[in-house]
Amino acid sequence: MAKSKTKRPSRSAASKAEALREAERYLLPTYKRQPILFTHGRGAYVFDSSGKKYLDFLGGIAVNALGHAHPRIVKTICRESARAIHLSNLFHNEFQGPLAHRLAAISGLDRVFFANSGTEAIDGALKLARLCGRPADSPSAGSKAKTRILAMENSFHGRTFGALSVTATEKYRAPFAPLVPGVEFVRFNDVADLESKFDDTVCGVILEPIQGEGGIYPVSEAFWNRARELATRHNALLIADEIQCGLGRTGRYFVYRKFRSTPDIVVIAKPLAAGLPLGAILTTEAVASRISPGLHGTTFGGGPMICAVALEFLEIIEDQKLLKNALARGAELRDGLSRLAAKCEVIKEIRGEGLIIGVELAVPGGPFVSEAINRGLLINCTHDYTLRLLPPLIITATQVRDFLRRFEAVLSHVPKIVHAVDSAKLAAPLRAAYSAAR
Ligand code: PLP
Repeated sequence: MAKSKTKRPSRSAASKAEALREAERYLLPTYKRQPILFTHGRGAYVFDSSGKKYLDFLGGIAVNALGHAHPRIVKTICRESARAIHLSNLFHNEFQGPLAHRLAAISGLDRVFFANSGTEAIDGALKLARLCGRPADSPSAGSKAKTRILAMENSFHGRTFGALSVTATEKYRAPFAPLVPGVEFVRFNDVADLESKFDDTVCGVILEPIQGEGGIYPVSEAFWNRARELATRHNALLIADEIQCGLGRTGRYFVYRKFRSTPDIVVIAKPLAAGLPLGAILTTEAVASRISPGLHGTTFGGGPMICAVALEFLEIIEDQKLLKNALARGAELRDGLSRLAAKCEVIKEIRGEGLIIGVELAVPGGPFVSEAINRGLLINCTHDYTLRLLPPLIITATQVRDFLRRFEAVLSHVPKIVHAVDSAKLAAPLRAAYSAAR
């Protein structure tokens, strides 16, 4: 593999081994990490400790929408970190109000609360649903409260107790039961199931307009419209989780903007501050009217430097016309993938919009991810069988072509990979097709 020219000296193999050893020894083992030590990135590329260059089609799982080391982001961080990184939420700062104004303008909503992560923002949104489910004149009157929350099967909303309670994956939930009570799961995009579970006891319904961790499944217009109607009829809040799919990735700032109606709450995070941790709850004036000082808060959320960076992020999206770029590059990518799918029966389906794409395979995706990494391509696999592509919004047409060339080379290893995986997991026709190639 060609080594790239990088400004930083590469680390010795010994210092890499030491860094990995310390991580293994001292970190909680919450991730199955690849034995790669990344040191830095530039644009759509990241570099490891040996200087190897990777085309980044994972983007820090949808965080690095501007790629790495965007000069305007670096400049903003340098400028503002020398002024004030943190000032207490007991006072105003220069950037929080303007950022809230900008987010209100692009979302069609009215008010904003800043948090530190996606999961924290989801927990806040669920609290708002519970608050609004109580009589306005006596919010502590628990007996009259509507407390049920509808969430979707195949969903992912985060790891804190509230967010985990509306996340469907059993293996994430079971070890921590009992979770927040009152949550019921609805089959995603199944209008009849939604209708059968919705009534006046529901205070909120939460969904991802494109399910991300679940394998890149977009919500149907019919399901969205019905969720909106039922939420309005039963006086419940419709909560859209756009943490992974939102803020420009689909060529729109918000996925729900393609529908006629808006949610009562939208939650965003990942790319909002270009890699710094910032989440936000966006909501209506009606919901905001139920909040009073002391009901919710956070120490770090919405600090001056991070809000200045988020404002810069949103300005860069406009200046570099990145919504248009996400649409154009996304179309090229899906066209190219469809051509590959026609030649390679291991690809079952290509899903997604703009630059959030799922390539569903007939076999487990792990070995494809490893082969891609060998070839200097960063992707990942979600729900075992779906390769997930989340390139930065700054990706160029040349880089998309480069990705497709390398991905085709990865697919050329399918026969080897297929034989390496547990054949019991393969569909019979595929097993037969590849036994000849052995
Ligand atoms: N919601 C969605 C749709 C996500 O994809 C994620 C993270 O992957 C979260 C919530 C949780 O966000 P965080 O990891 O910032 O807590």
